[in-house]
Amino acid sequence: MRVLVIEDETRLAATLQDLLELSGYTADVRHDGESGLDDALTGIYDVILLDVMLPRLDGFSVLRRLREAGNATPVLMLTARSETADKVEGLDQGADYYLTKPFDPKELLACVRALARRQPELRNPDSLEFGGVRLDKSSFTLSCGGRSVRLSRKEFDICELLMRNRNLVLAKESLLLKIWGYESDAEDNNVEVYISFLRKKLAHIHAKVRIRTIRMVGYCLEEDG
Ligand code: CA
Repeated sequence: MRVLVIEDETRLAATLQDLLELSGYTADVRHDGESGLDDALTGIYDVILLDVMLPRLDGFSVLRRLREAGNATPVLMLTARSETADKVEGLDQGADYYLTKPFDPKELLACVRALARRQPELRNPDSLEFGGVRLDKSSFTLSCGGRSVRLSRKEFDICELLMRNRNLVLAKESLLLKIWGYESDAEDNNVEVYISFLRKKLAHIHAKVRIRTIRMVGYCLEEDG
């Protein structure tokens, strides 16, 4: 379970991260709306905690853009006590739940658990498709025509990220950060190894898409020909 915390008060953000990690979640933190939205759009998170007042892009705009992009990750908004009127605005824009600061850690964790449980109905359909290739989230399989192959967790996460960012160049560093996390000692060649596994599996199912290497930068998933 991966949670994204978008909160500019650094102490509160760190407290939330600790709380989530102590409860067994993986938690990433962003301190402004713009980078928070970028991360949220990767679609790798199960729940997002989103503050309302944020530098660069406020929480409501982050939420609106996320929903406009077709991302249905459950969002828990964190609002200051004085912002009750804002609640209505946020609900209209597709927030799933609110907590007013300061909140009880137990209540926060209960909300996160509840949202995570609702995830299957709320999130995007169970599969992603690109160029005739289908990535199935419930069975961890990649298929094309009548052929299919099972993916390991890491292969699946990388493949999902590539499919969500189809035709865009994904930098190696961002793959490392998003898949292995900030505190991991994984290196570029870990990424290369998994990309080569994925290429073999794509070839195995006769996929008409390929992972192109962009020298010195990263990778791009695109259709053949
Ligand atoms: Ca704030």
